[in-house]
Amino acid sequence: MNVFRLTISDARRALDAKEYSALDLTNAYLDSIVKKDGAIHAYLEVWKNEAREEAKAADVLIARGESKPLTGIPLAVKDLILIEGRIASAGSKILEKYRASYDATAIKKLKAQNAVFLGRTNMDEFALGSSTENSAYGPTKNPHDTSRVPGGTSGGSAAAVSAGMALAALGSDTGGSIRQPSAFCGVVGLKPTYGSVSRFGLIAAASSLDQIGAIGKTVADARSIFECIRGYDEKDSTSLPASTRSDLGDSKGRTFRIGVPRAFLGEGTEPDMLKEFERTLAALGEAGYSIVDIELPSLKYALAVYYIINPAEVSTNLARFDGIRYGLSVSADDIQSVYAKTRESGFGPETRRRILVGTFVLSAGYADAYYRKARAVRELIRNDFAKAFGSVDVIATPISPVPAFKIGEKSSDPLAMYAADIFTVPVNLAGVPAISIPSGAVERDGKKLPVGFQLIAQHGGDETLFSIGEDVEKAGPIPTRHNPTV
Ligand code: GLN
Repeated sequence: MNVFRLTISDARRALDAKEYSALDLTNAYLDSIVKKDGAIHAYLEVWKNEAREEAKAADVLIARGESKPLTGIPLAVKDLILIEGRIASAGSKILEKYRASYDATAIKKLKAQNAVFLGRTNMDEFALGSSTENSAYGPTKNPHDTSRVPGGTSGGSAAAVSAGMALAALGSDTGGSIRQPSAFCGVVGLKPTYGSVSRFGLIAAASSLDQIGAIGKTVADARSIFECIRGYDEKDSTSLPASTRSDLGDSKGRTFRIGVPRAFLGEGTEPDMLKEFERTLAALGEAGYSIVDIELPSLKYALAVYYIINPAEVSTNLARFDGIRYGLSVSADDIQSVYAKTRESGFGPETRRRILVGTFVLSAGYADAYYRKARAVRELIRNDFAKAFGSVDVIATPISPVPAFKIGEKSSDPLAMYAADIFTVPVNLAGVPAISIPSGAVERDGKKLPVGFQLIAQHGGDETLFSIGEDVEKAGPIPTRHNPTV
């Protein structure tokens, strides 16, 4: 069993054929965590004993021939998805000791298949950031080069899968937090259609943008997790009924069209990153896809709109952390001081920045100029996508204009950090699904760093991402995902 190369599909076959047990498989991943996580710091906590018990329970089902697709599959869980009785800190000091009192719906569905939970993974505090450097518990390192960031905010989950410390993982994506770390670490990351996976039990960052999704080594692995966790949930008022799904329909004899918003790609994208993107596109062209230029004129406003809407919603959602209801409470003489002192010592600098910006853009004097304007432009972005999908099956862009950057390189310059989100945030504003697939590599300081290719589908078109995504995997010039240096 090679924990680096193994996929969920391989493991499923081997478990059902009794080549090894779910306990053997879990132990192999626990050993790998012991060996490697000292250098990576993907995990905030490893649930060794619980994971072994879950694996044994999975073995009983496998022995009875009753296994489901994820029975006995060892997964990592981002530190903001609730599992009853376990700590979920959202990478924050303010929730350091907070224990969940119920299971997130996604977790409940995974438990129903007897998946195994290895531990909770590091992240930027409250899912705010792009590098995992905003964690209150220290940064995670990129397994391809430990002087570099793994991306963020689901950096712990992506690094764990990349370094063979979990077979797959759950993450969340508000503006790229599953796709960008997956690209930086050379694994596959899926941000599903908004509403297709329940947000019940996901600690909220920006509710109209957040979505739970999957990180795995292959498109097929991301899909099998998505198949398990998707579905209508009455506990989430934004949950979608199954009828909103769409797929490619009858594909026989039809040429699929991939739209490329060329005017949007060049600015700020490093030349070799663009070259890798073009190489994958050309390979898809050779495989029979028709590659067409499209216009998405409002996309140039996406970053500005995102960095108004995100802080607005974050400032509202984080108001509940007041030192009274959850987690940390710093005592003081009066209630106002309890609020102030708790929030001052519990929140890190980026979280405070978002709360300040969010409060400002929502304030009576400025809401018309900022928040309401941003909401109106968000509609234009949504319409741009809807219009584009009238003529193409899928849209392709790079995931990031740069490869994994050095730890510390952007942490003192928030605007430089925000700018790296240019290709991922429009997807969350529009609520459409997208996937990041490793496709090629660039060299920095003598090390090969993975590059991610983004496919975006229309609302409800997650299935389209899987079918075309598998062709991207075949077209990918240099698969880098299986050779991290650590
Ligand atoms: N980098 C973006 C932000 O800081 C996206 C984060 C995310 O998807 N959670 O908001």
